[in-house]
Amino acid sequence: MAAGFISANKKVLISGASIAGPALAYWLHRYGFDVTVVERSDAVRSGGYPIDIRGAALDVVERMGLLPKLQAAHIDTRKLTFVDADGAPIAVISPEALSGGVSGRDIELPRGALTALLYEQTRNGAIHYRFSDSIGAVEDDGAGVGVRFKSGTHDRFDIVVSADGLHSNTRALVFGPEESFNRYLGRCFNLFSVPKPSSVSLSHEGIIYAEPGRAAGVYAAGDSDRLFAFLIFAAAEPPFLSHPDIDEQRKRTSEIFAGSGWKVPRMVEAMQSADDLFFDTVSQIHIPRWSSGRVVLVGDAAYAPSFLSGQGTSLALVGAYVLAGELAIHPDPTTAFASYEQIVRPFVEANQALASSGGSMLLPRSQEELDRRNQALAAAVSSADSGEYADKRRQIHNSLKLPDYRHLLR
Ligand SMILES: Cc1cc2nc3c(=O)[nH]c(=O)nc-3n(C[C@H](O)[C@H](O)[C@H](O)COP(=O)(O)OP(=O)(O)OC[C@H]3O[C@@H](n4cnc5c(N)ncnc54)[C@H](O)[C@@H]3O)c2cc1C
Repeated sequence: MAAGFISANKKVLISGASIAGPALAYWLHRYGFDVTVVERSDAVRSGGYPIDIRGAALDVVERMGLLPKLQAAHIDTRKLTFVDADGAPIAVISPEALSGGVSGRDIELPRGALTALLYEQTRNGAIHYRFSDSIGAVEDDGAGVGVRFKSGTHDRFDIVVSADGLHSNTRALVFGPEESFNRYLGRCFNLFSVPKPSSVSLSHEGIIYAEPGRAAGVYAAGDSDRLFAFLIFAAAEPPFLSHPDIDEQRKRTSEIFAGSGWKVPRMVEAMQSADDLFFDTVSQIHIPRWSSGRVVLVGDAAYAPSFLSGQGTSLALVGAYVLAGELAIHPDPTTAFASYEQIVRPFVEANQALASSGGSMLLPRSQEELDRRNQALAAAVSSADSGEYADKRRQIHNSLKLPDYRHLLR
């Protein structure tokens, strides 16, 4: 009886092929589910800044057999230099003193390298990827979910998973408009890359500059011939929540950074023509329940923590792992979803809370906050160990002990 019920709930549609989506597809496939992944773009999207895999998420990628490849792709940032308006160093610290990461264990790699590896790991012919398409409508009748794709085709699934990010359209279709769940953190960011000039010798390091309400940085990821740049500013009201106008944003950013020190004027100029500019509000998703009927959320769609927490990728990997395991254990999706949420939510909430101190470190909003940040940096430099700030973050990164689902593997 139970086995029959399980097989009745095994056809799963996942919306989104970035990090949470392919990770979930991998695990569901290993437990014998029939998985389709629908992705709006025509391929797995390759762009993005270096991201981190830490704490409990390292165990997830190890169990996926990905650790050696990820270690080979690790970009190994060795120092962060905070500078003043003339470029003189205020503090030089290890990235771990800021992030709470563990040198020699954590993995840092370009986001696109991770999505490519996850895609490669799940491109086995059994998991069906459907690119250049998206969910247009869902109808959950209690026994299954009818899906109309924007391409015009229809299909029916036992379970639909929204892994389509902060601005998820699946979440909007089932749970309501993003405005109800988007918690804006008072900042907006631009990320882009530029070719590394031959005169610049930066390697495996980042340089960060801040004024009250404005911050900029460049980041030499490993030995890459490109520099990653960011321009972040504080804004009491968000210019938008879900649909940025990129040209308007280039203009707005130039105005906001007018008169800024260090190398900011050159960075603003480079941003105007960057073809990989990624602009967004710094926002989190807080939603009272991660499931409704047979539809469930995972990754940023459910609980985006914002890049100020440094934990978006790790939370996506952990959430995908637990959701798949609970679906494999519990024949009834409602029970599986409740169990997944019960296990992961406390971990998510603790990690989302990290964004607040991360924000003051990267972008102090007042002179007072900037002075406090500089004092904290000085303490981190002089401290023999990594300091209380980093220790607390590390504890939170590791605060979930992963359930063991190995007995369920096929
Ligand atoms: C292009 C891009 C660049 C990013 N760059 C950075 C970065 O530099 N630093 C950082 O910390 N985080 C970045 N992120 C966010 C980071 O990837 C996530 O915080 C985190 O990894 C959680 O992953 P996720 O899979 O839940 O969501 P996301 O990585 O946001 O992935 C969502 C996926 O769903 C797809 N999608 C969206 N809408 C639909 C739809 N309607 N139908 C089908 N598919 C849809 C998207 O194309 C994307 O592939 C970036 C995300 C993207 C998409």
